[in-house]
Amino acid sequence: MSYLEYGKFTRDELLKKIQERVSEKRYKHMLGVEKSARELAERFGVNCDKAGLAGLLHDYAKELSDQDFLQLITEKNLDPDLKNWGNNIWHGLVGSYVVASELGITNDEILRAIALHTTGSKDMTDLDKIVYVADYIEENRQFPGVDRAREIACVSLNQVVAYETAHTISHLANKGIPIYPKTLETYNYFVNYLEQK
Ligand code: GDP
Ligand code: FE
Ligand code: FE
Repeated sequence: MSYLEYGKFTRDELLKKIQERVSEKRYKHMLGVEKSARELAERFGVNCDKAGLAGLLHDYAKELSDQDFLQLITEKNLDPDLKNWGNNIWHGLVGSYVVASELGITNDEILRAIALHTTGSKDMTDLDKIVYVADYIEENRQFPGVDRAREIACVSLNQVVAYETAHTISHLANKGIPIYPKTLETYNYFVNYLEQK
């Protein structure tokens, strides 16, 4: 694999930087997402290095402080409504800027896939979908429904995006957690792909 084409650090250099930023458990998860994203890319005809690199880096900003995120939202002139949300929404949408500046990633498709990995969007590229799904089904994930998601991911990228989004929304709603508008947008767009039972 060659990641140098999309930024300025080798994979080994990136691994070191990730380990300085995140817990051991999250590091393992990020390696799992890299692997899963490469497999999905192979299956669905997407560039494996772009998918692997986006997967590897997707949660890089997860352990940044709220204050850092709030400052970035101002600095980068992002939607001020973002300030009403929290780390779950920020670490992708805002975190992609940290990936660009600290890790020297210059490829916009990769940065975009990282930005959208939590909420999705109605106009995801195949690369975006792969990172969104790889995050959900990577080998370290264990929750009811993950095996079904892995099965669907063998067949259809759109169907597994729909499955993941429906389950995430239902999980958030059951817990009374607010749902970010972009997550709803993803659900409304992909709901047509839900399996008929
Ligand atoms: P992780 O970073 O690998 O844990 O996975 P994600 O980036 O996909 O999700 C992070 C957290 O955000 C999870 O707990 C999701 O359930 C949650 N999440 C996903 N969508 C939304 C949303 O629309 N609103 C809120 N509040 N949380 C969300
Ligand atoms: Fe995440
Ligand atoms: Fe993740």
